[in-house]
Amino acid sequence: MSLNNAVLDLLTDLVKFESVTPDKSECQKYIADYLSNLGFKTEYIRYGDVSNMISTFGAEGPCLVFVGHTDVVPPGDLSQWKYNPYRLTQHEGMLIGRGAADMKGGIACFMTAIKEHCDAGKDINGSIKIILTADEEGDAINGIRKLIDEKVFNKGDLDYCLVGEPSSSDEIGDVIRNGRRGSITGHLTLHGIQGHVAYPEKAENPIHTCSNILSNLLKIKFDSGNEFFPPTSFQISNINAGTGVDNVIPGKIDLAFNIRYSTETNAHEIKQKITDVIDKNGIKYDITWKHSGEPFLTTERKFMNVCKESIKEVTELDTVVSTNGGTSDGRFMAKVCDQIIELGLTNRSIHKINESVREDDLEVLKNIYKNILSKVFSS
Ligand SMILES: [Zn+2]
Repeated sequence: MSLNNAVLDLLTDLVKFESVTPDKSECQKYIADYLSNLGFKTEYIRYGDVSNMISTFGAEGPCLVFVGHTDVVPPGDLSQWKYNPYRLTQHEGMLIGRGAADMKGGIACFMTAIKEHCDAGKDINGSIKIILTADEEGDAINGIRKLIDEKVFNKGDLDYCLVGEPSSSDEIGDVIRNGRRGSITGHLTLHGIQGHVAYPEKAENPIHTCSNILSNLLKIKFDSGNEFFPPTSFQISNINAGTGVDNVIPGKIDLAFNIRYSTETNAHEIKQKITDVIDKNGIKYDITWKHSGEPFLTTERKFMNVCKESIKEVTELDTVVSTNGGTSDGRFMAKVCDQIIELGLTNRSIHKINESVREDDLEVLKNIYKNILSKVFSS
């Protein structure tokens, strides 16, 4: 495939913006200018120091929305980069630069797909929205989450949502995501009574009680998963106890754990099952919860099939539909849109030093996106 292509030029320009979270560069303005030449109108909605752009073409249904972010994670130790992270550089078939994969590459592919769709004289029988936030890689409080909380979109406004995050594993389109697991973290402190190891009757060893609690926590069956989700998993990430000396029974033990959960259960049920186990031991404890995302799932096949067929036509791959991986802004969009698919570049190098994409992959993804536009908007 030719290196001299429109996606490459566009990505080269996008990578130049040093748009570490929250993106305060002119990257969004550059994108808005490009889209305005195609007839899009852009509005900016700003919360705190986070700029969110919404570019719209048309007003009719169906409405296809592309969701993404212009911010990037910091480059880290610059001396470890082969090249300047903000100058997209070709090297042995790869393009190296911060944000090349996550996710300026995906944005460049979608923008070019629209341009080529229009240049070919094809109609858009419906409307397109491109929603880009400057705060996905950070706290993600004032980005897509806030747009949804503030009811900038309502249920029914958006028919199909394409999240351009790097969903692919080895080849473009080998994996798409139709949902993500929910995530809850618990911090638990079990309180005993500190004392001398030689006088256990005068102390209460919380480590001993903890071993019983742990074995019972690990036995909890939260659910069996379903067609799209593996069973909910409980993982302990940290345990800390002990004073550091050999002759003291400690007064407390701290534990941290995380639950990645399916749509077959919910946060309330999970917390209840866990506290039931702890309560049975009659020990004094404190627990705090951090709920970082509800699970979501697209079960309707229409848009999923559009994406699968579009991939098949370009790559001949049979796509795996998955809910694995970390959370994404799809979880917020799920509140207003029933059909959400994540489909983008490969995630092999994201957030790493020397983040890169294969040159050829840009063309492939752009062509898949073009197919999606044709299928959604053919009258
Ligand atoms: Zn991303």
